[in-house]
This record gives sequence, structure tokens and C-alpha cells, in this order.
Amino acid sequence: MPSSQPHRRARPKSRTRRQGRRKTEQEFTDIISAEFARQWKTLGLHVDRFERTTSDRHAHVVQDLFNRCVKNGHVYKGSYTGQYCVYDEAYVNNAKPGDPCPDCGRTTETVTEENYFFRLSAFSKTAARPIRVAARLHPARNAPQ
Ligand SMILES: [Zn+2]
Repeated sequence: MPSSQPHRRARPKSRTRRQGRRKTEQEFTDIISAEFARQWKTLGLHVDRFERTTSDRHAHVVQDLFNRCVKNGHVYKGSYTGQYCVYDEAYVNNAKPGDPCPDCGRTTETVTEENYFFRLSAFSKTAARPIRVAARLHPARNAPQ
């Protein structure tokens, strides 16, 4: 039976089995950020500027963009219902109520949650043009597999 209440996720992403203790969001993102920086050095990449998503500047820019998208009707509030695996914290495409999760085998739950949606259809023509141009410029790179 479908749930009318949004489902809250039960398993924190930042907990590791080995360590047992839940990291704070800042500790978790510090580790990930340091790993990215390490990989850039390994790959010999020079990064001119790196903006962490946890920075105040990034939060301000994203909030401003989001508010402008809402104001222009490109982002709107709606709801989504689907089969959800609580363990994997993921929706399972094309699953019916009671179907098992293809990744862990646990029974999925029907979950409805309220979300914001981006009106991508408003950009289908303008987004398609650069893709067509890129396909003409680099036909081998963009050829179907
Ligand atoms: Zn699962």
C-alpha cells in the first residue's frame, strides 16, 4: 500500500562499518575533499580554483540560483512515488510494490516524497543544439556504442 508520508532515510551515509562512529558531515566532506586533491596531484592536474560545496560562498550562489529558478518557474514543487530500498537509500526503477532490491535483495518500500523538480523540457531545444554541434565536431567520440 502506498505511503502518503515522505520517508526519512534510516542509514547515515557517513558511518563506516570499520570505524563504527558516525562522522560529522564536515569530517566526511573533509576526507572526500582531501582525496580529490590527492588524485589531482597523482594525475598531474593543476586546478586553478576549487570551490567546496560546504563553503559559505558556494551555499550563497546555489541559494541565489535556486531562488531565481523558482521565480522563473524552472523549479517547482511536486511529489514522486516509487519503490525505495531503505538499506541502499535508492529508488529502484521499474519495480513493483514488494519487489526485491536488485542490489541487496531486501524488499523495497513504496515511498512518496515531496521534492523540487527542474523543468528540463523548457531547455530541450537549447540544450540539444550544443549536443548536435559537439556530435558534428567529434563524430567518433559521440558515436553510439
Ligand atoms: Zn537495496
